[in-house]
Amino acid sequence: MSARTNLLDFTPAEALERLKAWCADKGEAAYRAGQVIQHLWMQPVADFEGITTLPKALRAKLAEDFYIGRLALTTRQKSEDGTQKFLFKLFDGEQIETVAIPDGDRMTLCISSQAGCALKCAFCATGAMGYVRNLTAGEIAGQVRELRLLADGPITATNIVFMGMGEPLMNWKAVDKVLTILNDPKGFGIGARHITISTVGVLPGIVALGKRPEQFRLAISIHAPTDDLRARLMPVNTKYPLDDVIEAAKVFDRRVTFEYVMLGGVNDGPEHALQLAKLATDCGAFVNLIPLHPGGSQGFKPTPRERIISFSREIRKAGVEVAIRKSRGMDISAACGQLKTERTKDRAKAAATA
Ligand code: SF4
Repeated sequence: MSARTNLLDFTPAEALERLKAWCADKGEAAYRAGQVIQHLWMQPVADFEGITTLPKALRAKLAEDFYIGRLALTTRQKSEDGTQKFLFKLFDGEQIETVAIPDGDRMTLCISSQAGCALKCAFCATGAMGYVRNLTAGEIAGQVRELRLLADGPITATNIVFMGMGEPLMNWKAVDKVLTILNDPKGFGIGARHITISTVGVLPGIVALGKRPEQFRLAISIHAPTDDLRARLMPVNTKYPLDDVIEAAKVFDRRVTFEYVMLGGVNDGPEHALQLAKLATDCGAFVNLIPLHPGGSQGFKPTPRERIISFSREIRKAGVEVAIRKSRGMDISAACGQLKTERTKDRAKAAATA
């Protein structure tokens, strides 16, 4: 018996082509392929049985050769501010997190691209777990899909940020495909300007993203304005030093955002604000200051609110556009990797007391 293929690991065009070839092979009408595609991302269904426009026998026949990959929801937390965090279990037992952040008529999903992460940023709960594996395209786009299938009502993304677990540009092959699935009208149909890739500055990935014709957004995690400090906080700075990252941001033909997590007493001094403003001026970047989520900080303390405000003023004074990101989900484990860490600790505790 041949192994079944997960249709969600393909772009809509690839899936259509496969299904058309399959229909031809099985003596089915080619238009059936389009009916299946309709229900992969646009109007997602749990499995082939949910595609009621297909005859029952054809649904069973499809299931012999294909499947629609699902992620198992294991934990769901809801914050008072409406932010929700989801923990999904993958086929091999690995767990990944997705966060849904409502804001007016926007619904931003923060999605994961890897199980764990190899880059070990000092302030990050995911980095502390280490790298496990890359997610497949179906597992990355599947997070957006699963939220459309929730039993108590769909959550439909208007915006996507690749800011969950993992470094998306270290998994470019799958992420490249996911960008198409997210943006394609036969996929989720989300505008490219509403999709942001966030990277620590993986240079080959930035170049590859820049080659795509769509207006996908790029955010670079700067987090420290000098090589010394950045290398202490982000070991990847040794491989991709600040100068090279800034150079890559300059040649990226769209406006870049600098992400800067505010770490109390570490990177939040007036001199850091001036240095950061200089870097942002060099490549016309917009600066996004991120208050540290207290639960995800591993020995770092958040910068006090007044200090963040004065830091942002100093940057603005230097002529750079700057915003302070709203803190969301402060009462749940909304920082990247935090929920999985907590669940793992809970299980370890339970095992120790059993
Ligand atoms: S901040 Fe991002 S790149 Fe750094 S360790 Fe965490 S997940 Fe990896």
